Amino acid sequence: MKNKHIIAGNWKMNKSNKEANSFIIEIQNRILDNGNTDVIFCPPFTSLITIVEALKNSQFYVGAQNVHYEIEGAYTGEISVNMLTSIGVEYVIVGHSERRHIFGESDDFINKKIVAVKDSKLIPIFCIGETLEQRNSGHTGKILNDQIEFGLKNIENIDPDNFIIAYEPVWAIGTGETASVLQVEEAHHKIKTYLKNLFGSNGEQVPILYGGSVNEKNAESLINTGGVNGFLIGGSSLKIDSFSEIINIVNNF
Ligand code: PEP
Repeated sequence: MKNKHIIAGNWKMNKSNKEANSFIIEIQNRILDNGNTDVIFCPPFTSLITIVEALKNSQFYVGAQNVHYEIEGAYTGEISVNMLTSIGVEYVIVGHSERRHIFGESDDFINKKIVAVKDSKLIPIFCIGETLEQRNSGHTGKILNDQIEFGLKNIENIDPDNFIIAYEPVWAIGTGETASVLQVEEAHHKIKTYLKNLFGSNGEQVPILYGGSVNEKNAESLINTGGVNGFLIGGSSLKIDSFSEIINIVNNF
């Protein structure tokens, strides 16, 4: 972790190139100091180059929302790690619950992506999280453990400065329902333990973000929660007022 905290904004399939550019100009006017916090913008593929250019020499970073594990070839509609690094993208979200649940990505498929990303200069933001049904049936720990174990299969070492985990309970994503401080603390503690079991002290130091309906009202109590190193934010990262306020709250914490 380069900084004390990390905030990543996942814009999903939102904002035209023009809207993305205006947002980035406005955020740079508003956020003059985010010295304690790494802020990463993850726009759609179509705006990546624009945003990389707009943020050159700034204190902000750019991430993609997805990547394929092959370097090149007959994979219509896909983008490789080399394509991302060649335009200056530094991060990539892997295993987001929408990729898992809407597009049927399995732990095995996600593992191949993580391996490809680790072999490149990109930093993965590896998302894990349980559904409501899994939580209600008492399986949260097992699900998180399995997603880590299978998602990180064949990986021997992890560099905590170049790897990020995002705990995103599926039932809290885009629903307005946030996990309680206790639920977040418990899950982050479990994740830290699983990572420690697999990768020793390096695993223990991997930053863990919370994601799931974070907004300017709950950001302070969530960033104050044990084991939370920052946020992965969907809806609120699209709104200039909310996102600037969350950055300020986290940066001043
Ligand atoms: C997300 O998409 O990763 C996310 C956390 O979305 P939201 O903040 O809208 O719940």
